[in-house]
Amino acid sequence: MVLGKGFRKASFLDCIMLDVDRTIVALSSAAGAAARCLVRLTGPDAIEIAQHVFTGTAPLAEMAGFTHQQGLVQTPQFTLPARVYVFRGPRSYTRQDVIELHLPGNPLAATGVVDALLSAGAEPAGAGEFTARAFFSGRIDLSEAQAVADLINAADTAHLRSAVANLGGKVHRLCEGLAQRLCSELALIEAAIDLAEEDLTLDTPPAVAGRLAQVAREATSLASDAIDMPETTHQPVVVLAGKPNAGKSALLNALSGEDRAIVSALAGTTRDVLSAQMMLDGVEIELLDAAGIGRTDDPLATSADSAARQAVARADILCFVADSADPDLAGNAELLAELRAINTRMPVLVLANKADLLATPDAAAQSLASLSEDVLPTSAATSDGLPAVRDKLRDLLHLSASRPGELLGLHQRQKRHLLAAAEATTRAADPLARDTHLADRAELVAIDLRDALAQLGNISGQVVTDDVLSEIFSRFCVGK
Ligand code: GDP
Repeated sequence: MVLGKGFRKASFLDCIMLDVDRTIVALSSAAGAAARCLVRLTGPDAIEIAQHVFTGTAPLAEMAGFTHQQGLVQTPQFTLPARVYVFRGPRSYTRQDVIELHLPGNPLAATGVVDALLSAGAEPAGAGEFTARAFFSGRIDLSEAQAVADLINAADTAHLRSAVANLGGKVHRLCEGLAQRLCSELALIEAAIDLAEEDLTLDTPPAVAGRLAQVAREATSLASDAIDMPETTHQPVVVLAGKPNAGKSALLNALSGEDRAIVSALAGTTRDVLSAQMMLDGVEIELLDAAGIGRTDDPLATSADSAARQAVARADILCFVADSADPDLAGNAELLAELRAINTRMPVLVLANKADLLATPDAAAQSLASLSEDVLPTSAATSDGLPAVRDKLRDLLHLSASRPGELLGLHQRQKRHLLAAAEATTRAADPLARDTHLADRAELVAIDLRDALAQLGNISGQVVTDDVLSEIFSRFCVGK
């Protein structure tokens, strides 16, 4: 296999994902009933295998790339209308022949057709295997492969916009632009090494240093201005906890808009961890009511206490709910300290609930001011204060939908490599700025420039380790 864009062969290539002689098949649309579903095949025998199940007016082997036809798919159990699309390698996503079968979106139809294709000789695709083939064939670079996963997993609009831009090659172009400029300086430096004997001056060292310093500045500001792309598909968890009867269940219902929790005037009614979904800027947040904490009087209470502790341990944010009409400050402070000890990294927001029972919302917040700097008055009964809670959660969860324009989005790993490239470039530039004779410094400068190029190669995938590839491709689902 020819590795495009200068990929070096890593042992990751040996794993199942890269056995490109296999023809692989997967359901590429989401599971479940829908208007249509999409079964995708790629590999050397894709056309021949698809022909086993598809009958149309023309044989698939005679179809040109980027064409389609209507026909029937036949399996031992059923015959269905289907449309087949043919993409011929190398002008395809994987650079191999790709066949797409568009079928009625019935899950039985999808699995039946996939099974028939497996019987005809295809093999099940691994997670991300289509995109891995696109990457290893040089069709896309690593930043673009990563953007495929980002696009599928984006949970807010800013990340979605960045993923689209990166899939269109934004990171690739930026890194390539920097790399090209470093390469031309490196060529100059290497010429200076080769021509050292002849005492030929190609450029003044300070001029080279100035251009390198500019590359370093640009790489640094790209890394620092870019928004953070999410590293996982982790759904944010917000936990409500507090003393019995503070209004946790009522707030869970009010924030999620669902009547999920039973709200009762009897203290301690909620004995389990209740969960509800809350949408914030299109992001689904898991809201948990950790009601059972601190009660171990019977086995049921003990298990509720342990479930509540586990919920707090998972929390990205804790909303500590207290009754501002009856603030037992010492009891609340003690419970809050206990909760903070379970999860030391979570930010805490104190909700001074039942604010409607006090003269003003400020009075409610004031009644609990000793607990935290972040106290918001709320009323689950009237919904007053809830928009401010949502705003605060948005801030704490770094939801960025309101950010304007199309921002460059980078993963931490990509930022680290950009900064390391900038550092190596600065290391190369600094001595040149002071020196007047390029040849004296050329060898060392060349080493630093190659290091900078290698750092950029880590972003594009030209230099990459198995660990990084495994981490990136592990975020894919089967069929992508
Ligand atoms: P939990 O034990 O913390 O889950 O508390 P609940 O949500 O079950 O509420 C306990 C009682 O307080 C119920 O009678 C609720 O109707 C009442 N309650 C909850 N929130 C408010 C509020 O904001 N204002 C008023 N006036 N009552 C509330």
